[in-house]
Amino acid sequence: MKIIVLPGDGIGPETMAATVQVLQAASRRFGLGLVLEHDVAGHESLRRHGATVTPALLDKVRAADGLMLGPMATYDFKDEARGEINPSKFFRKELDLYANIRPARTYPGMEQKVGAFDLVVVRENTEGFYADRNVESGGSEMLITPDVVVSLRRITRLCCERIARSAFELAMARRRHVSIVHKANVLKLGDGMFIDVCHEVARDFPEVQVDDFIVDAMMAHVVRAPQRFDVIVTTNMFGDILSDLTAELSGSLGLGGSVNAGRDHAMGQAAHGSAPDIAGQDIANPFSLILSAGQLLGWHGQRRGLQAFEAAAHAIEEAVVAAIQAGECTRDVGGRLGTATTGDAFARRLG
Ligand code: NAD
Repeated sequence: MKIIVLPGDGIGPETMAATVQVLQAASRRFGLGLVLEHDVAGHESLRRHGATVTPALLDKVRAADGLMLGPMATYDFKDEARGEINPSKFFRKELDLYANIRPARTYPGMEQKVGAFDLVVVRENTEGFYADRNVESGGSEMLITPDVVVSLRRITRLCCERIARSAFELAMARRRHVSIVHKANVLKLGDGMFIDVCHEVARDFPEVQVDDFIVDAMMAHVVRAPQRFDVIVTTNMFGDILSDLTAELSGSLGLGGSVNAGRDHAMGQAAHGSAPDIAGQDIANPFSLILSAGQLLGWHGQRRGLQAFEAAAHAIEEAVVAAIQAGECTRDVGGRLGTATTGDAFARRLG
């Protein structure tokens, strides 16, 4: 399996260095034969190539079996004409990575703010309120007058259908419960269609229990009793917001791993951003990116029927549980180690 590794901005280089160590340890232990090819995206690519991402990089990623994308300083990238392209959007759109799978679970030995839970947010990734991926060319946000902006949200039956299917398939391998999160009381057409399509897809999965929640009330439900949820399916922006909440409820945003999956490609990526407030201080939690790497291996294993990859993915998740219990982790999750020593200890433990 060839994986392109792009460290990213802010805490990206520190957390990706730890993740690369872990991937190498997993490759040795499980005989995965991983080939890691390093390149750049974000500020470093802008400096070197005049653009945060380049067509040549996309070709390379297309030809590989997976991509590990570090956190990006997306807020800094304002003008595509000057090469300031949002790399997350770029890969999600170009590779049609429509399903952003964001698990959140609590860990034994850590303070549990809202009790133990284990859930997954399945977020649509290729349309919705994200103006940079809704139209063929340009964006779907318009400056009508200097004082008036109109932002358009795109919702299509196709994207609702495929994200719903991803959620129900995932639920079949878990506790067989899907919760649909929406705002159909106000966005009657778009979210109305989203709910309808989710219920249509549900008919193909009669063993799965289904319920639905309005997104604002969902914020209260998930804080009050996250253990009642298994798989949560929702549109792009709601999923982005909700999954940061569930990651933090699990203990830290630094535990929020994710994989962005399409039919032919996948990208491991932490749920959080470049965290400029802690960059370069050796305190960022690398587990979000390490868990994302585990999810990427799991995706590859499932798609190709390769058990060693699925075993490696499972071992990475189990090793995070054990590392936190042993206190071999960063401060945000109760440990005393730095980013680099957390990576060292984790690679040793996994190996
Ligand atoms: P952020 O997610 O970077 O950080 C939010 C808070 O969580 C900060 O206090 C940060 O220190 C903490 N945090 C994040 N990751 C952590 C980790 N691994 N360990 C410990 N603490 C961690 O959000 P922000 O500060 O609003 O955004 C910074 C930049 O990231 C912006 O440019 C934003 O656009 C971008 N961003 C990128 C992505 C992405 O690449 N997928 C996602 C979200 C935000």
